[in-house]
Amino acid sequence: MTHTIHHRICPLCEACCGLELKVQDNKVISIRGHDADVFSAGYICPKGVALADLHEDPDRLRTPLIKRNGEFVEASWDEAFQEIEARLPAIRAQHGRDAVGIAVGNPAAHKIGLLMYFGRLARALGSKNVFSSSTLDQMPKQLASGLMFGHWLSIAIPDIARCDYLLLLGANPLASNGSMWTVPDFKGKAKALQARGGELVVIDPRRSETAAMANAHHFIRPGADVFLLLGLVHTLFDEKLVRLGPVAGLVNGVDEVAVAVAPFSAEAVAERCAIDASTIRGIARKLASTQRAAVYGRIGTCTQQYGTLASWLVDVLNVLTGHLDLPGGAMFSQAAAFASNTSSSSQTGTVPGVGRGITTGRHNSRVSGAPEIYGELPMTCLSEEIETPGVGQIKALITVGTNPVLSSPNGARVGHALDQLDFMVSLDIYLNETTRHADVILPGLSPLESMHYDVAFPQLSWRNHARYSEPVFERPGTQLHEWEILLKLSAIIQGKGADADPGALDDEHFADDTRRQFGDQAPAVMQAVGHQLRGPDRLLDVALRSGPYGDAFGAKPDGLNLAKVKASSASGGIDLGELAPRLPGMLRTPSGKVELAPPMLLADLSRVRDDLKLPTPDMVIIGRRDVRSNNSWMHNLPILAKGPFRCTALVHPSDAQRLGLSDGALARIANGTRSIEAQVQVSSDMMPGVVSLPHGWGHSLPGTRLRLAAERPGANLNTLLDENLRDPLSGNAVLSGVAVVMQAV
Ligand code: SF4
Repeated sequence: MTHTIHHRICPLCEACCGLELKVQDNKVISIRGHDADVFSAGYICPKGVALADLHEDPDRLRTPLIKRNGEFVEASWDEAFQEIEARLPAIRAQHGRDAVGIAVGNPAAHKIGLLMYFGRLARALGSKNVFSSSTLDQMPKQLASGLMFGHWLSIAIPDIARCDYLLLLGANPLASNGSMWTVPDFKGKAKALQARGGELVVIDPRRSETAAMANAHHFIRPGADVFLLLGLVHTLFDEKLVRLGPVAGLVNGVDEVAVAVAPFSAEAVAERCAIDASTIRGIARKLASTQRAAVYGRIGTCTQQYGTLASWLVDVLNVLTGHLDLPGGAMFSQAAAFASNTSSSSQTGTVPGVGRGITTGRHNSRVSGAPEIYGELPMTCLSEEIETPGVGQIKALITVGTNPVLSSPNGARVGHALDQLDFMVSLDIYLNETTRHADVILPGLSPLESMHYDVAFPQLSWRNHARYSEPVFERPGTQLHEWEILLKLSAIIQGKGADADPGALDDEHFADDTRRQFGDQAPAVMQAVGHQLRGPDRLLDVALRSGPYGDAFGAKPDGLNLAKVKASSASGGIDLGELAPRLPGMLRTPSGKVELAPPMLLADLSRVRDDLKLPTPDMVIIGRRDVRSNNSWMHNLPILAKGPFRCTALVHPSDAQRLGLSDGALARIANGTRSIEAQVQVSSDMMPGVVSLPHGWGHSLPGTRLRLAAERPGANLNTLLDENLRDPLSGNAVLSGVAVVMQAV
């Protein structure tokens, strides 16, 4: 039998590589990078090939499960929705809207149906108890960017194709291919940067894969990035190196920043961050003197108690050295669809470049008083909101593609809390450490059974593009699309019943959305879109056509629409060009300017001042990203599980000697009364006094169905982390730099 060729954007990480799949007899027989892909040009990492394993995985759920007498039994979709209807609305009616919480994980970002329809379910619930993995690793970057540029997804990324000096902090894009920065084949692009005489400089407590290829690498004390960044900004003012360049008239707050950083000279911060003052001053001078340069900070800079400050200071450096919004500097992608910072004034009623900005703290979490952020509460508040009696206590929970028992600090407490719920529904493809607590599990589709268009990542992409993926396989007859599942759940919540037709619900929502977005033009828009499209496809067509490259529903015949983007799939999508300057039009701040000195951030510097002389613990722990892992369920995919065991505790030889640890032996790592045992790997790549363990492991809990992962379960880093430690501004969990005690077992 002959094979067929299919093209699919890889949904397994933020790099969004274009893949080419060969299918025969309804099976994937090979996966390779799609050479013609306009964005990733044939690049693929080992995870991309694992998409076939994910599709075939016998542990992947294909039928709803209902827990009866403590055991999961297979059920029909009708039975599953009837069970939910019988139990969920009653809890909401008795205890109020906030009694039903909802939590979503990062797989939602890789499935347009989940991402676009999760909001519909959250709105139907009307609960303040909304949680997501954003407060585990990225909210600081979103908050800092929102305060400076006016929208949560207006995030400046390095224009690596033209950059000549790239300073990376707490990031390992060689393993990740970017995070909050979509940059497939980072290695190739970094090598090109070096080949044209540019420099890559990495700041990290571990000599990561990226650091190993860098022109320079500097160890830094975990959690001390804010001190280094303040020292760099201080040096710019101190040595009169501040040059704003073309954006000079568009920036508020330069003088306020100069005053705020006055206590943080390079000499004052050097000991705290363990980087000497001359190095700090040298980096600042190099940044200022290089015409095309950019600073990028990622997970290490976010997952710490000063996450928002560190994220802010990264862009303060980009602004003060004249590199914001210029080729080769820190720029803003222009997405073809769904980007709030591209919407036109006629749609929003605002002047381009001016907006409402962002707001936080519209309500607070009930127990800890943590402020709401981007419509949600910190994931680390979930347990206490379930455990603590009172009005607003979470009695029921809906989880969507999230596994906080493994991915959130003190996961054991999360697990115990989930057991106290009156009812729990999970939309997930696995029976994992979190969904084992559910009463009903609704399985999503394999990525190969869904159409896809990336909603968020084109807003963070190294180059502008529009690419669409058709489903590779028909979905199984009885299976629902995720967007249909979410609409059915919304209907149950709204009292429309478990039998509600998702297609009709979708039509209602679409009509409402169109009226809201287009006002008087709505009938014409609906007519232009027609009746053929449903679900995410219809939303995508409207977004593309009304977007910055769109056909304006026929008024611009050369513009984009869904049909054109779909038709480009085999030829690798549509290239929309290199990043181009977007200021001031993309700003959405009330002033119409870049806000360099948001008062909330300046006020938070008092904490940093107090910590400047804080003593350093003997040993602190950090996480680690591996090219073969991203989400916890990837440990269940044969091709990724092969090879040497990766859940090892990396320690420097001097620490190994001091603590009597030997390579390959077990060590106990403890934080107070909580401890784990992990296999030691002695490595001079580590900074002395720092141990590194990857996250997402710990597959030894009973009642899961991740059989391959359970064979080599690994230790759960999050067992050691404190759920009460958060960046107070963003609510983000502190995952890096937590003090631990390590000893040989
Ligand atoms: S880097 Fe790997 S996992 Fe990420 S999108 Fe590309 S192929 Fe997929």
